[in-house]
Order: sequence, then structure tokens, then C-alpha cells
Amino acid sequence: MANTQKIQMTTPLVEMDGDEMTRVIWRLVKDILIHPYVDLKSEYYDLSIEKRDETEDKLTVDSANAALKYGVAVKCATITPNAQRVTEFNLKKMWKSPNGTIRSIMDGTVFRAPIIAKGVEPLVPSWTKPITIARHAYGDVYSNTELRAVKGDKAELVITHADGTETRSEIKTFTATDGIIQGVHNTDQSISGFARACFTYALSTKQPLWFGTKDTISKTYDHRFKDVFADIFAAEYKDKFDSQGITYDYTLIDDAVARVMKSNGGFIWACKNYDGDVMSDMVATAYGSLGMMSSVLVSPDGKYEYEAAHGTVTRHYRKWQNGEETSTNSIATLFAWTGALAKRGELDNLPDLTAFAIKLESAALQTIADGVMTGDLVSISTLPTKRKADTETFLREVANHL
Ligand code: NAP
Ligand code: MG
Repeated sequence: MANTQKIQMTTPLVEMDGDEMTRVIWRLVKDILIHPYVDLKSEYYDLSIEKRDETEDKLTVDSANAALKYGVAVKCATITPNAQRVTEFNLKKMWKSPNGTIRSIMDGTVFRAPIIAKGVEPLVPSWTKPITIARHAYGDVYSNTELRAVKGDKAELVITHADGTETRSEIKTFTATDGIIQGVHNTDQSISGFARACFTYALSTKQPLWFGTKDTISKTYDHRFKDVFADIFAAEYKDKFDSQGITYDYTLIDDAVARVMKSNGGFIWACKNYDGDVMSDMVATAYGSLGMMSSVLVSPDGKYEYEAAHGTVTRHYRKWQNGEETSTNSIATLFAWTGALAKRGELDNLPDLTAFAIKLESAALQTIADGVMTGDLVSISTLPTKRKADTETFLREVANHL
């Protein structure tokens, strides 16, 4: 199609490119399913590990600020460097997780929901409806400070107040052995933003909200989460929940896990940062594959960053690098694009753009329902006839359906 015949955009969306197999998929999704139909306006940031290293991670910060400026971003999975990656790419530094950096700047909440396709039944038979996990995307272990302590050291928590006085509390005196300590934090502002995002999202999707922490053990830290949620719910949301016939339930995190396993789904599960990291992988796997888990980061003032919940799928990338066939699921990455395009259409009043995004999602799901799917789904699909497609062929089949 000539550019003038394509669907037009008015405001750019922020495009955050990434690494490895998902970078390969990124290019294929754009070439096969977006560029032919949409005159794409994007502000492009290359968040590949090489470019982040080259720019001292400035690109990551710039891309997050652009997301706040334009209101809609789509992000590819990126490598979070560890010691092995520092060697592999000869990095100047073990740069922080880009997702962590972007989440801090946007101070957002991540909502992850399984993408349900006909023929892919959840491993937990009672989970007939999606479980949406709301992950608090700020603080805790993701922006921690850690130290190694040696035998004889005394570790303390110290708060230096504005007037110079101090409050100290002993963590541990390492009398017998070396050890480790960790300092984590959260802020009332971020917890409140998290609570409001969860209550608002529950209302807009008409689903009940569950929340669990370990407040019986963590009487100051986790208890603060419990109290903030309770106060905001009572003051701002209880009436609205009552009138919609939905509930807010708080319980201990381990009890929440037990109740989730026995549930039918159809609710939003608010999780602290680490719980959400772990539980979203468990829930995604139970619903099919990590490749079927969508993710959106929402800031308190309604800015959106769409991405897949999975990583860069390194094991598949190694095969791709060797010229071997791969069958990597592109659904979550594709739905990040459609989520961003649909939101751009909604905000900019471009119904054609939103309609295109919805059609593209249906085409992808119909492709799976028709028995054409990637390897991860072939092994779990209940369809009587199914065919494994390689990474690129699957996307071409989606284009045929479209
Ligand atoms: P991963 O990329 O999510 O992959 C783990 C495994 O899950 C894969 O080996 C594959 O299993 C399966 N899988 C995940 N996505 C799939 C898909 N789309 N299609 C088919 N199978 C899929 O996690 P990882 O290997 O632990 O991490 C790789 C890199 O990603 C790391 O450098 C990490 O830092 C980064 N990461 C980034 C993000 C992000 O940017 N949001 C999130 C997590 C991890 P099989 O091998 O059994 O086929
Ligand atoms: Mg995780």
C-alpha cells in the first residue's frame, strides 16, 4: 500500500527496541503486520544492551521520559545484565534492569493478563477466567542496596532526619560468621499510586481485587501496604465497588496463593513487586506459555507502556544465531504492539487505528484456533489437528488471516 492509503497516526508512540530473539520478532512483527497497513509514527529508542552501554544507559532514561511525554510506549524485552552478560558484551558496567528504570520513572503499576486462545486450556482446570496480576512496579528488592558483611561487623539501619538527628536500629551483629545485608524501601506516594491504579483498573474491568502481603511478620513495612490500601479503599472506592457489585479482599500472601489455586479466575490480584514477578510467571505458565502473557505498565496519571511479560528468549536466539529453525511465540510481543496502537487510537480519536489493532489480535487468536501455532503451544494445545509453525511462518499465517 502507498503511505497515503495506510492508516494514519497523529501522535507518535514511543518504540523501545530490545535484544536477542525478541528483537528478531520485533522486526518481523513490524515488517509483516504493521508497516503494510499503518503509516507508523514512532519515536524510536534502541534499548539493545550494546546501545545502553554506549550511552551509559541514558537511552533508557530518555525513552521513559518520552513515554511520559507521549503517553503510549511499546517495549521489546531487553537483557538485564548479570556478571555473565558483562563478560559476554564487554560492558562498562552492570547496568540496571531497563524495566526497573522505566518503572521507577513512570512510577507505574504493571497489569499482566493471560491471552486466552481457543484450544489452549489452562493447566489448572478451574481457572476458566483470566487472572490479572497487578505488580507494584516500584521499590523493594528491585532498587535495593546490598552489602557483604564480614565476621565481627555490626549492621544497623540508620535514618538521618532533616534536623541531623538519627534513628538507629540493629539488623545483626555478625559474631560467628560472615554474612549479607540488604536495604529496601518504598514510599507512601508509590504505594498510594499502586492502590489507586488497582482500584481504578478493577472498576474499569468490573473485576474483584485481591491483595496479600506478609503483614504479620513485616509489621512496619508490609503493614504499611495493608493500611494504605484499606484507607484509600474506604475513603475513595468502597461505594463505587458496592454499586458495581465487586469486592476488595485483603489476606496474607500465603493464604492468597492457596485461594488463587482453588479459584475460577476472573479477578485482579494485586502483588508487591517481587510477588508479582514470581507469580506472573507461574500464572502465565499455567495458562499456556510465557509467550501468551501480556503486560502493561500504567502510571498513576494514565500513561501506558505495553510489553510482553517474558524475556529475550535467549535459548531460542542461540539456535537462530546458528541458522537453526526456531518456533518462538510472538503473541505477547504482537499484543504489546496492538495494545499500544489501540490506546494511541483511543487517545487520539483514531477509530481506524483501534479497529485495526483489534482485528490484528483476532487474526492472531484465530490462527491458533485454526491449529497453526508455535512449538510452545503445540505441546499443550487440546486441538485434534495442529501444525507447528516456525517463528516467521506463524506471523505470515496471521497476515493471511488478517
Ligand atoms: P525468557 O526469555 O522469558 O525465557 C525463558 C524460557 O521460557 C525460554 O527459554 C522458553 O522456554 C520460554 N519462553 C519465554 N518466552 C517464550 C516465547 N515467546 N515463546 C516460546 N517460549 C518462550 O527468560 P530467560 O531466558 O530467563 O531470560 C533471557 C533474558 O531475558 C535475560 O537476559 C533476562 O535478563 C531478560 N529478561 C527480560 C525481561 C524484560 O525485558 N521484560 C523479562 C525477563 C527476562 P524453552 O527454552 O523451554 O523453549
Ligand atoms: Mg518474572
